[in-house]
Amino acid sequence: MGSLRRGITAAAGLLLLASAVPAGAAQHDGDRGLYAVRGTDKADRTAIARSGVDVWGVRGDTLTFAADSAQAQALRGQGFELEKVGDVDALLAERNPDVRTAVDEFPPGDEGYHTYTELTEVLEQAVADHADIASLSSVGDSYEGRALHLIKISDNVAQDEDEPEVLFTCNQHAREHLTTEMCLRIVERFTDEYGSDPTVTELVNTREIYVIPTVNPDGAEYDIEGGRYKGWRKNRQGSGTDLNRNWGYQWGCCGGSSGSPSSETYRGPSAFSAPETAAVKAFVDSRVVGGVQQIKAHLDFHSYSELVLWPYGYTYDDSNETMSPEEAERFREVGEALAASNGYTPQQSSDLYITDGSINDWMWAEHGILSLTFEMYPSGGGGLDGFYPPDERIEPETERNDEAVEILLTEAGNQG
Ligand SMILES: [Zn+2]
Repeated sequence: MGSLRRGITAAAGLLLLASAVPAGAAQHDGDRGLYAVRGTDKADRTAIARSGVDVWGVRGDTLTFAADSAQAQALRGQGFELEKVGDVDALLAERNPDVRTAVDEFPPGDEGYHTYTELTEVLEQAVADHADIASLSSVGDSYEGRALHLIKISDNVAQDEDEPEVLFTCNQHAREHLTTEMCLRIVERFTDEYGSDPTVTELVNTREIYVIPTVNPDGAEYDIEGGRYKGWRKNRQGSGTDLNRNWGYQWGCCGGSSGSPSSETYRGPSAFSAPETAAVKAFVDSRVVGGVQQIKAHLDFHSYSELVLWPYGYTYDDSNETMSPEEAERFREVGEALAASNGYTPQQSSDLYITDGSINDWMWAEHGILSLTFEMYPSGGGGLDGFYPPDERIEPETERNDEAVEILLTEAGNQG
């Protein structure tokens, strides 16, 4: 508390969005609104996130989030100055052309993104074309029964060699489709360029690379059902669980998630209650060989705000009994090196706001894995369009992280 809470007046992107809302469209009673609060510190952002609203983006000290009228009223009652900058339904209507495709596909103009069926085909083709260095399996099934694809890339791929292992996960949050494309780029780059790109070749020869391109295929498919975006975040179990609040370390401890099933940050009835998180957990647990966790580094992709985040999220403390000052310093150094390569902003996760039950906290606390999060393009301060960049942005915004991926793969070979 104690920071300025002036309503936003001049974020250009927000004004553009607000002006795009058709007159009268914001009058639906009970509809969710898009709000901005400026001049926040991390305690303010934690208090706002704790109320169960749907945080969309952060830029500087401005937090942008979707909230229903009751949530907005409660926050105003706490003294926050909320500036309403849009209506969620109106923004969705604006983003979705009034054309419905007959088949399951992204909205017109965004066909460059991969549906689950298309993703599966690309992965199967990559493995068929590169059978010596790539294999396809799954870590289990989603709630609705879709395979949670797992791609392994390494020389002698059929063998479990004594090489540092690295895991990349994408699309825990349904609407963050750009992240699935990021994982797909990693798969294609480390297979297609093997033997021609010296760095790729060296890393494939000396690492075992695991990629899970979509942790939440049910949610992602639902988000584009009928060729119209829905702004969906959670999985499709009941009213949906926020997968990145469902992990089992300090689950629900600290007001960094919601116990209300209707909330966008619902943590689920228990840790690992979601089949998707339980499946990824079981895979990571299975990589303990001879008492030693083989996975040395992990990167989880999200969007948006252009940030590099490291644990812990559940506490403001930089270090504690489960993270020494030296370990915290290593996270900072790696995070800053990654950010220097892609232009993102590096910070400890809780500097943004408190989250609990996140994948990074669990990976580090339970397995000692150097685990970080990227919040991809665009930078914060935008609105709904931040989740749905046009497909022309896929190539530049995934290529932007090529060097960061190499840095993490290299770092996995260093002693922690
Ligand atoms: Zn996310």
